[in-house]
Amino acid sequence: MALKVLFIYPDYESMGVEFVMQKVLDEGHSVALLLYNSKDDYTSQNRKADTGRIARKAAGMEPDVIAFSCVTNIYREQLAIADEIKKVRPSVVNVFGGVHPTIVPERVIAEKPVDAIVVGEGETPFAEYLQNVESGRRSEIDGVVAKYGQEITGNPKRFQLTDLSVRSAPFKEAFYQLNPFQKAIYRTVASRGCPYNCSYCANSALRKLYGGRHFRYRPVENVIDEITLARKKYDLEYVYFGDDSFGYDKRWLSEFSDAYERNIGLPYSSIANPLDLDADKIDMLKKSGCVHIQLGIQSLNQPVCRKILNRHIDTGHLAKVIRMLKDARIFIQADHIIGIPEEDLSSLDEAISFYLENRPDVISVFWLTYFPSVAILDYARENGLLSDKEIEDILSGEGAGSIKMGGSVKDYDIYGRHFLLMNYLTLLPGSVFRRLYRSRIPDFLTKSYVLATGLPRFVKAFADRRNFLDKEHLKRLIYNTFHKSVRATGYYEKRSD
Ligand code: SF4
Repeated sequence: MALKVLFIYPDYESMGVEFVMQKVLDEGHSVALLLYNSKDDYTSQNRKADTGRIARKAAGMEPDVIAFSCVTNIYREQLAIADEIKKVRPSVVNVFGGVHPTIVPERVIAEKPVDAIVVGEGETPFAEYLQNVESGRRSEIDGVVAKYGQEITGNPKRFQLTDLSVRSAPFKEAFYQLNPFQKAIYRTVASRGCPYNCSYCANSALRKLYGGRHFRYRPVENVIDEITLARKKYDLEYVYFGDDSFGYDKRWLSEFSDAYERNIGLPYSSIANPLDLDADKIDMLKKSGCVHIQLGIQSLNQPVCRKILNRHIDTGHLAKVIRMLKDARIFIQADHIIGIPEEDLSSLDEAISFYLENRPDVISVFWLTYFPSVAILDYARENGLLSDKEIEDILSGEGAGSIKMGGSVKDYDIYGRHFLLMNYLTLLPGSVFRRLYRSRIPDFLTKSYVLATGLPRFVKAFADRRNFLDKEHLKRLIYNTFHKSVRATGYYEKRSD
C-alpha cells in the first residue's frame, strides 16, 4: 500500500524538502505540500502561524505521514502544528527532519507529537522509514530515531550520506504550483556541506556529528543534466546555487564553468567564502555566467574573526576580492553580523569605514543569533554571556528567529544605529552617508525591521537588474498579500519523465 505523505513547510522554497519529496515519489508513494506563513518570514513577521487552521487543513487531506523539516527558527511552530494535527487525526505519523532535530535529537524525539526523527541528510533514511510504516515493521535504520508507544529505537549518532553520484533532481512542481512566480529562479545545489567551521554556523554543529565527511560535490555532469532538463520544463531566467561554499574546489569549478557556459548560459547566483576566491576563480565565475555572489564577510575585526568566529580572512585579501568582483561586474551581496562577542562600537565604525572604501552592492546585516550546539554557544556559556535559562531556551528552540530584530543581542539599542546605517550605506553617496553617520537617528527608525532592512533591500531590488533575489522576495511579499496564508497542493504520483 503506497502512503500519502504530506510535507508542511513555511512559505518559501526548500531544496531539502524538494530532494526528499522526489525520493519519496521514486519509492512509489504520493506527496503533497502545505505552505503556511511563518512568524520567521519577514513577509509575515511577528504574526503567529495559525496552527489550528493549518492542522485542520492538513487533516482534511487525510495523510498517512506528515513530514516537517525544521531549522531552529521554525521548530516550535512546527511542533505546535504537529500537536494540533494529532488531536484531529491521531493515526497520523509525524516525522521531524532538518538541522534542528539533527543537532538536538534527544529533545525532539521526547516531544509528544513526534513519532520519529530523521537525522542528517533525509532522502534515504526517510524512504526506509516509510517502508517500516507501510509494513508495520520496526527495523532499525541508520539516520532514524523512532518512537513506538513508550519505546524509542535508533541511534541518533548513526546517519546516512546521500550518494551524490546518482543522478537526482529536486521535485519542484509542488512549490511552483503554490508560488508560481518562483519558476523564474531555479534553485539547486552542486555540493553538500561546507569545508569550513565558522563558530556561529550550523555547520559547526553538524561537524560535531559528521566530522568533515559531509562536504562533497555532485559530478558536474549531473548538475548540468538537471538544469538542462529543468530548462525544458520551466521558463527559467536565472539559476541560484545554494551551496554553502560554491567555489571552494578549483578543479571542480573549472570543469563546471566550461560545462555551464557551453550548455546552460543562464545568469546565476552563488554563495562564497572570500577565502575561496582568487583571480582565476573569479574569471571562471564570470565566464560561466555568475552575476550575483553572496559574500560572507561577517566582521572586519580580525582578532574577533579568528578568536570568536573561527574565520581567518585577511582584510587586505577581502578588499582585493571585492575589487576583482566589481571589475568582473558581479553583484556583491555582503553578509555582516552585528552583536558578536568582544566587538564594540569601534569595531562597527571600522567596518563602516571599510565598506565606504570597498563598497559591496548590498550589505545584508544580521543580528547574531545563537543556535543549539554551535561552537559560539560554547564560548558564550564558558564566558558567562548567557544564563542557564537563556541556554535552555536556545536548545529548546524558544525565542529563536533569524529575522528577529536584535537576534540574541542583549543591548541591541546600542547597536541599532549601526544596524540601520550599514543597511543604508550602499544606497547613498559617501558624502551624504557621512553626514547621516554624524547625525542623530530617531529611535523608531532603528527599531523597525521593515524600515531598517526591508526598505533599503527593496530599493536596491529595483536599482540593479542583477539583484534577482531581492526582486523575488518582493514578488513573494506581493503574492502573499493577495493569496491565502495556508494553502496546499493535491497529491502527486511519480512522474514518468
Ligand atoms: S563558510 Fe559559511 S557555510 Fe561554511 S561554515 Fe562558514 S558560515 Fe557556515
